Amino acid sequence: MHVAVYSTQPYDRRFLDAANTAGRHRLRYLELKLEASTAVTAAGAQAVCVFVNDRVDAEVLTRLASQGVRLVVLRCAGFNNVDLAAADRLGVSVARVPDYSPHAIAEHTVALMLALNRKTHRAYARVREGNFSLEGLLGFDMHGRSAGVVGTGKIGACVARILQGFGCSVLAFDPRPDQACLGAGVRYVPLPELLAASDIVTLHCPLTPQTRHLIDAAAIARMRRGAMLINTSRGAVIDTRAVIEGLKSGGIGSLGLDVYEEEADLFFRDLSAQVIQDDVFARLLTFPNVVVTAHQAFFTEDALTAIAETTIRNLSAFETGGRPLHPVSVERLA
Ligand code: NAD
Repeated sequence: MHVAVYSTQPYDRRFLDAANTAGRHRLRYLELKLEASTAVTAAGAQAVCVFVNDRVDAEVLTRLASQGVRLVVLRCAGFNNVDLAAADRLGVSVARVPDYSPHAIAEHTVALMLALNRKTHRAYARVREGNFSLEGLLGFDMHGRSAGVVGTGKIGACVARILQGFGCSVLAFDPRPDQACLGAGVRYVPLPELLAASDIVTLHCPLTPQTRHLIDAAAIARMRRGAMLINTSRGAVIDTRAVIEGLKSGGIGSLGLDVYEEEADLFFRDLSAQVIQDDVFARLLTFPNVVVTAHQAFFTEDALTAIAETTIRNLSAFETGGRPLHPVSVERLA
């Protein structure tokens, strides 16, 4: 199939080319983000391959469909950036990579927790400056603390297992509790109870209309004073402005983010020589107790290999059988 691949980074090209054995599919790499103004660049393609910040809304889908595009393959698990109802209406199939490596994201999540707890980000800079003082670097034992996992799908369940290995007591909130988590002693509680009882709150639910700004001022007010908040799911699951107020008041003790509501204008690019125009994001970067990574939780050899291989399999299955291997249907929104 002829595929227009958007938001391509050099590593995407490397892993996709390796998975596209014998050059079965014609992959046309574009650095552009897919949005209404760039949809015309899909001309001639039967499929588009997109990532987390490509915008696949009704307008884009209408333009794609009118040019003959019949398939959207996501190089990620989340599909909040695709208007599934519009795709359904237009007869465009949508596919994703459901579980390329939950370990990659779970391990990065825990890396953020450990860095924030033991202030590794500050210790690293300090020692390089010849400052060997420990003042201000005091952490806590993870052992015996309570951690609240919001969303125990593939990633959340993996985080829960790792935290249990540390000796944390793990609470969870998920409308569909996971049997393996229950069997392993994870205690499911309503969200307000989780927020009130957790020293660490970590978010692993998808971004949906129900989870947009799940962590807002009211939720922060329910949290334990000084608790750690981690978000490696999607930026808009937290209300960033409310979280900044929480950090200023000390309600939130520390914050680890791999995703940000407005990341589409920032992440996956080198902006180090430019002035950041997003004042909310710039404020986040001023806190000593905030660690932000630029949507890199998925970024391991293993995950990129699996993403590329599943993406190619989605394309091949659609080409031969008219249906991708891992379709995302409008029912998933229900
Ligand atoms: P998954 O579908 O396996 O699990 C999601 C879980 O969230 C499900 O168990 C679901 O029941 C639960 N859920 C749905 N609504 C909820 C709500 N209102 N409150 C609590 N839980 C709710 O997905 P996954 O593979 O574990 O991925 C989770 C999310 O992580 C993805 O949707 C994606 O946004 C994000 N993600 C981020 C990265 C990254 O690099 N930072 C990489 C992959 C995925």
